[in-house]
Amino acid sequence: MSSIQDIKGVGETTAKLLVKLGLQSPIDLIENIPRKYDDYSRVMSVRSIKPGPVTIQARIHAITSRYSKKGLHITEALASDSTGSVKIMWFNQRYRAQSLNPDAEYFISGDFAQSYRYLVIANPSCELVSAFPLHTARLVPQYRLTKGLSANQLRKFTKNAFDQTKVTETLPQWIVDEKELVDRRTALFSMHFPESLMAVDKARKRLGFEELFEMSLASALNKQDFAQEKAQHIPFSESTVVEFVKSLSFELTNDQRKSAWAVLQDMTSGSPMNRLLEGDVGSGKTVVATIAMLNVAADGKQSVLMAPTELLATQHANTIEKILPKGVASQVVLLSAGMKKQQKDAAKLAIKKGDARLIIGTHALIQDKVEFNDLGLAVIDEQHRFGVEQRKKLQSKAKTMPHILNMTATPIPRSLTLTLYGEMDVSIIAEKPGNRTSTTTKILLPEQRKTLYESLKSVMDNGRQIFVVCPLIEEGEAKAARSLSVESIHKQLKSWLKGYEVALLHGKMPASDKQAIMNDFIKNKINVLVSTTVIEVGVDIPNASVMIVEGADKFGLAQLHQLRGRVGRGVHAGSCYLIPTDNDSVPKRLRVLESENDGFKLAEYDLELRGPGAIYGTMQHGALDLRVAKITDTKMIAEARSAALAYIKKGENLLKYPQLKVHVDRLRTITNLN
Ligand code: ADP
Ligand code: MG
Repeated sequence: MSSIQDIKGVGETTAKLLVKLGLQSPIDLIENIPRKYDDYSRVMSVRSIKPGPVTIQARIHAITSRYSKKGLHITEALASDSTGSVKIMWFNQRYRAQSLNPDAEYFISGDFAQSYRYLVIANPSCELVSAFPLHTARLVPQYRLTKGLSANQLRKFTKNAFDQTKVTETLPQWIVDEKELVDRRTALFSMHFPESLMAVDKARKRLGFEELFEMSLASALNKQDFAQEKAQHIPFSESTVVEFVKSLSFELTNDQRKSAWAVLQDMTSGSPMNRLLEGDVGSGKTVVATIAMLNVAADGKQSVLMAPTELLATQHANTIEKILPKGVASQVVLLSAGMKKQQKDAAKLAIKKGDARLIIGTHALIQDKVEFNDLGLAVIDEQHRFGVEQRKKLQSKAKTMPHILNMTATPIPRSLTLTLYGEMDVSIIAEKPGNRTSTTTKILLPEQRKTLYESLKSVMDNGRQIFVVCPLIEEGEAKAARSLSVESIHKQLKSWLKGYEVALLHGKMPASDKQAIMNDFIKNKINVLVSTTVIEVGVDIPNASVMIVEGADKFGLAQLHQLRGRVGRGVHAGSCYLIPTDNDSVPKRLRVLESENDGFKLAEYDLELRGPGAIYGTMQHGALDLRVAKITDTKMIAEARSAALAYIKKGENLLKYPQLKVHVDRLRTITNLN
């Protein structure tokens, strides 16, 4: 790769600034998509200009410089063409006067607007008239900038990069032809210096297609490779599973049945399962995982369930142990950072010897510290990133590739499932368990808080418990309208709710303290648990019926939905109260939560309201920084996907397309987004 300093005009200092923007080579500059365009493409006569963005072609004369009373440096001049003159002004651009040649013609682009008493063009860009202006008289590209680097410089460097670099085609020619795409160089050049908005559209179409094609290809190739791995054939132990299902205190929902069936089938196939189980909070994914793990244990093999936090791992271990028949329950082993060394060693030994067949712990712990005897299945709970690397790590711990079941409560709009989860098979639990009393959600203003907490005394007297979640408040922010830190809310509630047990839980507490508090909460020794979002994912406390979110405007839609999913899980109807920071900060998404309970619908809504970033945000992904394509463009997604499948079917070899290979190989390590 040639260096950015090879570009004409880029010295050491500028290079550093460009690197700051992630631009390390000429091709980086070329692929640096503008954030927007200012339309200065119409060149008008001076007489015909109207307030707004304008471009004229004129001579600049009567140039004077002065300082205003306030010390502002002002350069004034007149710009004239054959139809008239207009005043132009620059503020604090001392070099301007010297840089202008009164005998030359310039393109002058800027905003024609009222400044003091006159209409003037203030701070215009101007450049000598030429056949290919960069900063004026065109659709002018605007870029992300950094201090010390101007838009003019970036445009010039980008143009130079094109002059000095050969941009080659990355897509197979038959795809370019078939899809009627413009070639790569043309597309990128039009992206920066378009002749028209139509040219931008064509460029976007080409580059967007390329992005989605590469993504689809990466996940299709991953899927193909994965399917070629050998995995253990794990037979369906019908009687064990049927008996277990019968022993449950509830009937499985249809979706649970279907998902469990798909999982059991996958494991008999001999090639590794890579399935995503997607279901809203409280939809009952754990029992599906338990069926899978039980089935593996019945075959004498091991399963591991990895949870994102210690808390969840512990809870999973407890739940699963409780619902399994005694013989199998004794094969459940929890591995938790909070355990004493002796216990941990004993657990690890049991895992190594194979006595432990259902192993539960956090991702970190399992991936780093554990040796298995015969690992057949890995269940991954609520982790947004389990990619090729993590999978390899797991594989190295097993005789063959373990079957993998990913579980997520982050509902993805159906239209996006294929793009985001292209390399997995997907099962969805859409229906809620039948006994589920839905949770009502209400926005309350801060001034209603005291009354609310007062009214909740009777709820607590009836034995129910309450979650209060506070946003993470940075030190600097602490002087907000009212203090929302967990500590201060905890203190306040203790004084408001005398005679009730109000406990505090936050991320920075030692694991053992957290565990102790959680245990007390589970045992109903605590009435109100004030916490940060440590309780967000997965915690299951059927006796808790009220969720109060303080500073609710500081949370995203998906997160709030997750939080309220913590209540209304048992036989008791749940209530969720969203309390914004102050009366003026009630964002629309809070209203949406009041009326909508369906996680999938909320995800669709989020996508519409805030764009894909909303969804990615909750997924903590790193892969899908789509630069051009829109993730909502389902038609293009489908086309790109079918082109990728056609490419594979043709038996095309990536080695024939070295640049495409570089892109796809990078994506292959990060596309598995679950
Ligand atoms: P999640 O999908 O969020 O992980 P869980 O697996 O924790 O949900 O299940 C939530 C609660 O619902 C648990 O208390 C579980 O015992 C209960 N549950 C699961 N399936 C059913 C069902 N079919 N009928 C009634 N309750 C169920
Ligand atoms: Mg769960």
